[in-house]
This record gives sequence, structure tokens and C-alpha cells, in this order.
Amino acid sequence: MQVKIIGGHGGVTKNYHATSFLIDESLLIDAGSVASGLDIHSQLKIDHILLSHTHLDHTKDLAFICDNCFGLKGKPFEVYCHETVRKAVKNHLFNDIIWPDFSVLPTKENPTINFNNISAEKELILGQYKVTPVHVNHPVEVPKQALGFIIEKDNKSIIFTQDTASTERIWEVGKKLDNLVAIFCEVSFPNHLQGVADLSDHHTPQTIKEELKKMPKEVPVYLAHLKPNYQEQLIQEITDLQEPRLHILYADDVRFNF
Ligand SMILES: [Zn+2]
Ligand SMILES: [Zn+2]
Repeated sequence: MQVKIIGGHGGVTKNYHATSFLIDESLLIDAGSVASGLDIHSQLKIDHILLSHTHLDHTKDLAFICDNCFGLKGKPFEVYCHETVRKAVKNHLFNDIIWPDFSVLPTKENPTINFNNISAEKELILGQYKVTPVHVNHPVEVPKQALGFIIEKDNKSIIFTQDTASTERIWEVGKKLDNLVAIFCEVSFPNHLQGVADLSDHHTPQTIKEELKKMPKEVPVYLAHLKPNYQEQLIQEITDLQEPRLHILYADDVRFNF
């Protein structure tokens, strides 16, 4: 599997894109930067889009990928998310006020986007991929809304947790896998903002050190979602942990092959 980090940050500014991970050019995890970070030819190659949760840094570019690609693809983008996420995106983004409802455009019969409900630990097969959504702990106001994803192809599995505070279930499920090759997780705020991290259900370097003890062993852990305004401090604090498993996604537009 090739994982392209279109955007791996927890914010948006020049040269820093919000979360969008693209697998083998066709399976997208989160839509934070898929339109701003990919050319339209590459956007058209995407078939399936998984949404981890509603937050804007994971959903906003749905608006623009639809605007870029409507009528050009011949079939809709198939979006997979929890029912609460579908309702929120339809009611608050594609509501014909903030943005047109591309689930009925350019026509009802041939729309640009099609939503599919998923729920935790119900596997789905998307082409060559087996996808297992697993509950993660983010955000507390909407319990059980946020999902991480375990994606398997050619007998290799990768865990993508996206936004989460300390969590349990995805690690329990991950430990049962005998073909796990990588974990993508998050660190958002530096240690001195632990209070903010706790209130918003995110990790700091000191909490990821504890989280690491619960994760499946002996696979590399890639840390994304660094807030751009604290990137330098985060890199320093993560480096100071001296954990050889940890890799920091400080640059966007990079690829990993597993
Ligand atoms: Zn986020
Ligand atoms: Zn979030």
C-alpha cells in the first residue's frame, strides 16, 4: 500500500494542509486538503472517501472536490461515515446555504457525492481493501461519533486513528492483527497546553508517551495533526521522548510504501 500524506496537520496555513491521507490514489481518508493539495486529474481518480469525524479540518475539502469534479467522473464519490457525521455534513455544509447539495447535483440520478453509513467494527470491503472502522475518543460532546480505520490489503494492515485522546478499543483490535505494518496517530498540542488538549480530546507529547504503551508493539508509529503554530516546539518535545518507534509527519505531500 502506498500512503500519500496530502495533508497531515491539525490546522491550515501556507505550506501546512489539514488531514487527508490517500491510499494508492483511490481510497481517501478524510477530506481536509484533498482539493487544495491534489490536482484535479488526481482528484478524479478517487473512488472512496472515509470520514473519521465532522470537524472542518477533516471535511472542508469535500465542498471543493465536488465543485471541481461534478459531471467529470461518471460516478459519484462514495463517502463512508457514521450516520451522525453524514447528518452534520448534509445539514451544515451541503445545505444549499453554506454550499450546494452535491448529493443531488448535477442531477439527482447522477450526483457528485453519495453517502454511505458505517459503524464501529462493521467491516466493509471497498475494492481491494478491507476497512474496519473502530471507535476512538474524540470529541466528547458527540460520543461514538469519531472513528479510526484499520485498512488491509495484500495481507498488510495499517491503523489510522486520526483525531483522538487516550483511547482503548482500536489498540485492542490492533493487537489481534498479525499483519500490522504501521500506525498513524496524532499529537496536536505541546505539553504546556495539556488543558486545551484534554478539553478538545487531543494528544500532547507527554500523553502520547503513555499511549504508546497500549499500542501494538514493534511497528512504526507516525505522528500527524501537529498544530502549525506549535510545530517547532512539538518536534522538539517529541524528539525529547527518545522513542525510536515515533516518526513525525512535519511535512505534507510525502509518500510511504508498505
Ligand atoms: Zn483534526
Ligand atoms: Zn477533530
